[in-house]
Amino acid sequence: MSDLKNKRIITVATTGAWPTKENTPNVPIEPAEIAEEVYNCWKEGAAVAHIHCRDDMGKAAMIFEKFEETVGLIRAKKDCDIILNITTSGGVNLKEDDRIKPFYELKPEMASYDCGTMNWANTTVFENNPKFLERLGTLTQEVGVKPEIEVFDPGMIYNAGYLVKNGFLKPPLHFQFCMGVPGGIKASTKNLVFMKDVMDEVAPGSTWSAFGVGAGAMETLYAAVALGGNVRVGMEDNVLYKKGVIAESNMVFVARAKRILEEFTLEAATPAEARQILGLK
Ligand code: ZN
Repeated sequence: MSDLKNKRIITVATTGAWPTKENTPNVPIEPAEIAEEVYNCWKEGAAVAHIHCRDDMGKAAMIFEKFEETVGLIRAKKDCDIILNITTSGGVNLKEDDRIKPFYELKPEMASYDCGTMNWANTTVFENNPKFLERLGTLTQEVGVKPEIEVFDPGMIYNAGYLVKNGFLKPPLHFQFCMGVPGGIKASTKNLVFMKDVMDEVAPGSTWSAFGVGAGAMETLYAAVALGGNVRVGMEDNVLYKKGVIAESNMVFVARAKRILEEFTLEAATPAEARQILGLK
């Protein structure tokens, strides 16, 4: 067995709910585009792919057939063993049953789990009410899909603690600290240290990853590596590679994250190593 101490997981979130072809022509939207991008990101060093799909207009949607096609195309690439993590939010104001069906039917190894409700980007409510979180926790356990606990502020970490205590989530948990979305905590090193401290208190023994949206992206990336965490990159979170420069692909984000790890004398975990770190079967 390889030594996992120096391995960090790079998750790529290629598409998300928001960027459109008008924002960047390089964002993959169609199932075939997403599958090809995921495959190329795996070749660059990503161990986990966080998957969203869009409707035929390119808008955020939880259309089961789109997920089925995308996942099918990725799984058809026989040399690619990347871990799939399917979204359970897909955007905002989507039906709960539609949010559940893709992971429940397609059984990826992981699914995102947004651990609380928030005012999203000063525009709308991103609803994850207590009953939905209980149902989602129960169903992920039923099908053996590991939830990735996405937290946008420290209060959501306490929600996770409550859900563990009541059996809806099963430790050890894996957190994704999603920072810099208006309505959530700002992306900064100070805030990441605090988020990690809260996690260590509320859910000791958890693994974690982080990303920053917008101006705090690079600081969060470096801070996550420095603090012993894993990282997420990709166009779901940032369409700019750096100020004023649109990323030419998701692969350039993965390649940069891998280079940063190497500067720290760390290595990007392979999917097999990531499975061990995350306790996947
Ligand atoms: Zn997502």
